[in-house]
Amino acid sequence: MSSNKHESPVADQLKSLESPAPAQSAPEPSPKVPTSLLNPEAQAYTNAVVSEAIKGVFAQLGPLLQSIALTPEKMAEAEKLRRAPDPAAVARELRERKMTQVEFEENERRKKENQAACPHKYPTGQLSINVVRNFPDRQPRFTCASCAIWITPREWRIGAPDAENPRGVPFIAPEHPQYKMASEILASKG
Ligand SMILES: [Zn+2]
Repeated sequence: MSSNKHESPVADQLKSLESPAPAQSAPEPSPKVPTSLLNPEAQAYTNAVVSEAIKGVFAQLGPLLQSIALTPEKMAEAEKLRRAPDPAAVARELRERKMTQVEFEENERRKKENQAACPHKYPTGQLSINVVRNFPDRQPRFTCASCAIWITPREWRIGAPDAENPRGVPFIAPEHPQYKMASEILASKG
């Protein structure tokens, strides 16, 4: 019996819980573990109960521990969420881009209307068209000082790029409807 008392951790713990403050100078004999608990049968029963209780706790914690474990898949998912753009910010960006596009188109339309309505003349009646000659294809261009129109000949231009033409698609633009008129004015002026 007495050897059992020292080998059992549970009994020791029970003993330390029951013992009063250990700082006391006069060492009192610690309360005896009830002899009914010190027989091997009771000991085995206590051990079995404690071990079952601990097993039960971990069985309950199991799914929780598994759910909070940081697997590579979960980390990748979290990183994807962290990098995902804010839907509100995306919506705002798209809205603003669309507004910019609408404003650009309105300005272009207004400019074209102004240029179509412009007589290309100063209030004095003098023609406000000037010739620009420094182009590599040696064909003159004309511009109006009032409406900033560009009157171009039939010429090569570079359009928007596509998959085959990353530097842009070259195409031949037709002559401006007023090019002949402007050329004749230039010729008459000498
Ligand atoms: Zn003009």
